[in-house]
Amino acid sequence: MHVRCTFCRHSFNLSRDFMVEAVSEAKEKRMKYVQVECLNCRKQIKVSAAQMKRYVPESKKLADEEAS
Ligand SMILES: [Zn+2]
Repeated sequence: MHVRCTFCRHSFNLSRDFMVEAVSEAKEKRMKYVQVECLNCRKQIKVSAAQMKRYVPESKKLADEEAS
């Protein structure tokens, strides 16, 4: 998933592994946003958890294992 820093405009990709973890954590804490640290300026960016969820297959917790 592609995100852009709102502070320095640096754009980068979030790995699926990161998102799987972040989405489950957001769910647990009932947060609407996930804090992502910008790789460039180290500030915290808010990324919508709902948006992130779309990139994470919910029914497959460990899709990597299924692939083999
Ligand atoms: Zn930044």
